Amino acid sequence: MSPHDANARLRARDLAAVWHPCTQMRDHAGPDPLPMTPIVRGEGAWLVDANGKRYLDAVSSWWTNIFGHANPRIGAAVKDQLDTLEHVIFAGFTHEPAIELAEKLLRIAPAGFARVFFADNGSSAVEVALKMSFHYWRNVGKTGKTRFIALTGSYHGETLGALSVTDVPLYRATYAPLLHEPIFVASPDCFERAPGESWREHSLRKLEDMRAALEHHAHEVCAVIVEPLVQCAGGMRMYDPAYLAGLRKLCDEFGVHLIADEIAVGFARTGTLFACEQAGIAPDFLCLSKGLTGGFMPLSAVLTTSDVYAAFWAEYNAGKAFLHSHSYTGNPLACRAALATLAIFRDEPVLERNRELAAHIARRLAPLADHPHVADVRQTGMIAALELVRDKAAHVPFASAERRGLRVYRHGLERGVLLRPLGDVVYFMPPYVIAPDEIDLMIDVAIEGIERAVN
Ligand SMILES: *Cc1c(COP(=O)(O)O)cnc(C)c1O
Repeated sequence: MSPHDANARLRARDLAAVWHPCTQMRDHAGPDPLPMTPIVRGEGAWLVDANGKRYLDAVSSWWTNIFGHANPRIGAAVKDQLDTLEHVIFAGFTHEPAIELAEKLLRIAPAGFARVFFADNGSSAVEVALKMSFHYWRNVGKTGKTRFIALTGSYHGETLGALSVTDVPLYRATYAPLLHEPIFVASPDCFERAPGESWREHSLRKLEDMRAALEHHAHEVCAVIVEPLVQCAGGMRMYDPAYLAGLRKLCDEFGVHLIADEIAVGFARTGTLFACEQAGIAPDFLCLSKGLTGGFMPLSAVLTTSDVYAAFWAEYNAGKAFLHSHSYTGNPLACRAALATLAIFRDEPVLERNRELAAHIARRLAPLADHPHVADVRQTGMIAALELVRDKAAHVPFASAERRGLRVYRHGLERGVLLRPLGDVVYFMPPYVIAPDEIDLMIDVAIEGIERAVN
């Protein structure tokens, strides 16, 4: 190890003490280890490692960072809050950053919400929504409702409740004995559509599966939980807004709640501030996190209706209160980061700018539709994905043990672009501050990586 190699020094200390998420740690050891990259600084869409090498953050640091690393406006708000109140217990006590954030979220969310419940991260928000829905039905006397409906290919987080409604085998299979069993209904995922079928036709057809499940199970179901428009961790699988509109109607018809998990797709990722807007619907529970604080602080929020809220309103000894809590509920620093993030949405033409950036991404990806190992080029707003396959015509995937996507990841790191394929799905989910020439770099490097990976 050279004494001038700051990366190597940090890497050695890391690998002696830290256990990383979503990682087989042994991949970082051995003869051809995956790099463990120590980052010391961020600037806009870029990350800088300890040796000064720069990486374009094409995945917004796990989809959280929407307005750039070290964004000065968000940073200033957090610094200001640090000098006045870092945290306070949120039961029996309150503070203006949380109050103002709740007011603002209710103002910008689809119409129909009346209350905001805060938690610390996306999985916790999903736990809150599941528990609240179950508890609502119990409070109104429907004690037979104890189950949930989720879509195949769904991802809602990895704590046990959230993992139960997740259908990504990589995360779920091992823990299945610990999980409650939801009813999984076929996803409207348009990668599965028949030849010649439109996204809309395919998605609408899949509503029939949901209707059948509700006809059979509605009496025992609290809620249907979905990721609106894009099933992100399940491989950036996309569907038409018509499905959400139909699903809202079905939930009303059968008397079950609709939980929209917009943890990944909220805050302008899909082309509208919230993905549900594209279907003209409001769910009974809206889960938000990730982009909420611009990627600065862990925070999540569950928005719900006055109907739900009213079912918990009772004399204390009736036992109807929602007693769920986290130590850092409503953390003021996180709320200030979120308020600064919302202020950027208010002051800057984010949606218009994203439309241009998304169009640029689409133009650059279009030629890949003819690539012999790219089965699908799909995009919803600022999410684009390429599905690498062995056999394009028959949609036959590469053997997963070949870890083709990982080769794209390694190539990206060498070339200074952080791409992190989900299996063999190479996707782009950059911060909204990315420039057109940076999009070109991101896609050029991805194409080089794909050539290496498939040959
Ligand atoms: C990331 C994600 C979660 C979980 O959020 P965490 O903060 O990682 O716990 C839940 N749902 C969706 C759709 C997500 O993308």
